[in-house]
Amino acid sequence: MIPTITGTGDEGSNDALKLRTNVLFHERITADTEGYGGIHPLVALYSHQRRLAPLVQKAIEHLEPCSGPASIVDARRAPDFVTVTRGPGMRSNLSVGLDTAKGLAVAWNVPLVGVHHMQAHALTPRLCSTIRLRPQEAYRSPRDGYHDAAEWTPQDLEPRFPFLSVLASGGHTMLIESNSLIEHKILAATADIAIGDCLDKAARAILPSELLVPPYGRALEEFAFPNGSSDYHYIPPAGRREELERRETRWGWSLGAPLSDSHGAAKSSRRMLYSFAGLLTYVQRIMTANPERSIDERRELAAEVMRVAFEHLASRIMLHLSSLNAEDLETVKTVVLSGGVASNKFLKHVIRSILDVRNFQHIRLVYPPPELCTDNALMIAWLGMEMYDAGYESELGIQPLRKWSMDAAAEDGGILGAGGWMKRTGSIPDVKL
Ligand code: AMP
Ligand code: ZN
Repeated sequence: MIPTITGTGDEGSNDALKLRTNVLFHERITADTEGYGGIHPLVALYSHQRRLAPLVQKAIEHLEPCSGPASIVDARRAPDFVTVTRGPGMRSNLSVGLDTAKGLAVAWNVPLVGVHHMQAHALTPRLCSTIRLRPQEAYRSPRDGYHDAAEWTPQDLEPRFPFLSVLASGGHTMLIESNSLIEHKILAATADIAIGDCLDKAARAILPSELLVPPYGRALEEFAFPNGSSDYHYIPPAGRREELERRETRWGWSLGAPLSDSHGAAKSSRRMLYSFAGLLTYVQRIMTANPERSIDERRELAAEVMRVAFEHLASRIMLHLSSLNAEDLETVKTVVLSGGVASNKFLKHVIRSILDVRNFQHIRLVYPPPELCTDNALMIAWLGMEMYDAGYESELGIQPLRKWSMDAAAEDGGILGAGGWMKRTGSIPDVKL
């Protein structure tokens, strides 16, 4: 939702363009919606209106000083283009960012690139590959700056297409197959609530109130595994049947895998769908039945809800992989975990263990560092750069989109189906899409 001012320095010969990624400024402001039980649209809107322009002003101070005559923005080098989130999301909030970005693009006389929020999540590991070479490696905090490790060309970006992504956030849960910058196929999406929503509400039901600090998903993880991975004791299910079996606990309750019933001919256990509402209701019922449960029992419930939710995420990756022929399977080399829930270390352990036990040891699991897993402006800036580099720019009249699929097979035609795109064929944008 934040317009991002992106700048790339290109230093190279004509045939092999070498690029460097330098992040000049990156800051995140989160609206204080504590006490509303989720995002409150008006509080979020007022927060955007109050804080966005001062934040942009601060960002502009980090642009390179200009040696030539003072431009509109005093003595700063104008960026090559301005990127902004166009959707999907709440229109009112998106409008604040979009209108600000349009103003900047007009004032600087540079192109505008209005991008897709979920596409940005999916491509974040490619940004990571330029700032630290490997997404999972330690990478510097914003205070140290996000400087590149090396020069790169667009061919060096990793992961290469095609790859699979699990987008697990507070508002979305999807399994996506990314075949190119603009070709993304949604293999499975949630039929009800998002996994992050499920974990947040499970945390509210399970955690003692003094431990309930946002983000609740992280509080749930820390509560379940106070000593980190030494508390896991996780045995991955060796096959589909084991995955659907309930694991009895010593407390007399057990959590069933979502979509594990088969209704007549329509076997929901094999449908490419996610569902987390039933799991949450079950956890809430366990807690309401006896609110005085011991800390040990609550810890186990917290660990179990995560295990079941994460195995459910993994189950659709496995179903997809098992549906591929040997040749197509060969092309799947990487699974990306992204979105706020992807900062959960137990999630990575569960998915890695399941891939290994099902003979997919060769598939790499990559995930951005936690600060780039949750919503951030850098991922938007990066996607803008990839889109701009591929020749895409937006018309100045584009409007925010509440709903916007990533999948070209969807009714709205996916990323390009939204319209408002112009494609450069030479140096001047001349093709209207
Ligand atoms: P996003 O919607 O991508 O900004 O992600 C926010 C969601 O990620 C919220 O539901 C958080 O509770 C959740 N989240 C953040 N950290 C963790 C974590 N360590 N484990 C599980 N969920 C988390
Ligand atoms: Zn997001």
